[in-house]
Amino acid sequence: NQRVLSGSDLAERARRAIPGGVNSGQRSIPGLTDLVITEADGARFRDADGREYVDYHAAFGPPLLGHNDPDVSAAVAEAGRTVDLCGVGVTTAEVELAEALVELVPSVEKVLLTSTGSEATFHALRVARAATGRRLVVKFQGCYHGWHDAVSLNVISAPERVGARDPISAGILPEVLEATLVLRFNDAEGVRAAFAEYGRDIAAVIVEPVPHNVGCLLPEREFLRTLRDECTRAGSVLIFDEVISGFRHDLGGWQAISGITPDLTTMGKAIANGYPVGALGGRADLMELFSSRPGGSVFFAGTYNGHPAVVAAALATLRKIRTEPVHEHVFRLGDRIRTGLSEVFAGLGLPAVVTGYGSVFVAYFMTGPARTYDDLLRNDASMFVGYRRRLLGHGVFELPLNLKRSHVSYAHTETDVDRLLEAAAAAARAQLADGDVLADVADASTMGGVADRC
Ligand code: PMP
Repeated sequence: NQRVLSGSDLAERARRAIPGGVNSGQRSIPGLTDLVITEADGARFRDADGREYVDYHAAFGPPLLGHNDPDVSAAVAEAGRTVDLCGVGVTTAEVELAEALVELVPSVEKVLLTSTGSEATFHALRVARAATGRRLVVKFQGCYHGWHDAVSLNVISAPERVGARDPISAGILPEVLEATLVLRFNDAEGVRAAFAEYGRDIAAVIVEPVPHNVGCLLPEREFLRTLRDECTRAGSVLIFDEVISGFRHDLGGWQAISGITPDLTTMGKAIANGYPVGALGGRADLMELFSSRPGGSVFFAGTYNGHPAVVAAALATLRKIRTEPVHEHVFRLGDRIRTGLSEVFAGLGLPAVVTGYGSVFVAYFMTGPARTYDDLLRNDASMFVGYRRRLLGHGVFELPLNLKRSHVSYAHTETDVDRLLEAAAAAARAQLADGDVLADVADASTMGGVADRC
């Protein structure tokens, strides 16, 4: 008789063979270190101990249609039967996807595919430096652009370290980090001052137009406009990192919503509903620097770029978003959740700012406003994490880690939202009544500076 392996058995085996037991920086969550996923479909996943969760974490954002969307899975299977990675030339499907991105995303005149968002942002910065011959890169506090050195600082910092320069990793050459200026999001005056001082040396400004790596800060129009104007005036390259917002908020990304067009755009996540994809697109003169033909000078490569299964997934995702009311559905559910949660917390007298956009929602436990990263330091991290831990007991999965956003997909239903709102009321009430039962909640708040990757 074979014993069924429990989550803790499997997690222990994982820790013996895999450093930390997981394959990405933020998959091992305090209080959830024995979580072993065995199945996922639609709006749900299940673990090795037979628990089922309605999933609002959504793998940090890719499955806009839900897990294992049948149309996407069928397209991937079809690609697996008919074509494979050959590593030479281009496939018909790659041409179709590139044309679609050019048509849909305002800044994109030409586009290249990568396998991850980090590669896309890496190449965006490299080509900006090549095109301008300049050294400095500007990023914003609270924004995450991947794991590579130039952007590996100031995602989430401890309250006392806000304004300090906090690398997310050891092992980075200090001179790489010194070439990155960190400014405050939604601070147009700070941007103008930085350009006045360093403008002639700024190769690129990279920004999440909506910083979702700290939940949701909505950009002020004047701020995005200032980025555009200052970059144009100084001859710097403006990069919108739409790895989260691309496809999810609009097929044209936040640039279509805001009307502010960057020079380069990075995408990923939702554009292939969970298959490993990234994309870098933008002005033809910049993108042509990657060309392997004469005139190109910036090296670009990747064995798996444009993998047929991934491209098939992206085309199927796009087809579904265009032919079915995907955005209408997720926006309606997102609105219901934001309104419903605000009512629940207000009814309990619990100070909360419930924000987000479209399918993305987050409840900070603080008084408003939530305009800047500094505002988020008022969020009660132990309430934020403790509340989410209690949601787990109701079969609702929102990542129990400070400042993380949640997502609804096309697979979530109105009934799922009803259950979420009931669970929210119960979890918040219990947390208020007995807030300090979670002894290790401080660890889970990750306000410690280091190791914040999403
Ligand atoms: N940019 C943003 C805005 C992201 O949120 C992420 C991932 N969370 C990345 C870039 C990096 O993408 P990847 O993890 O696919 O390398």
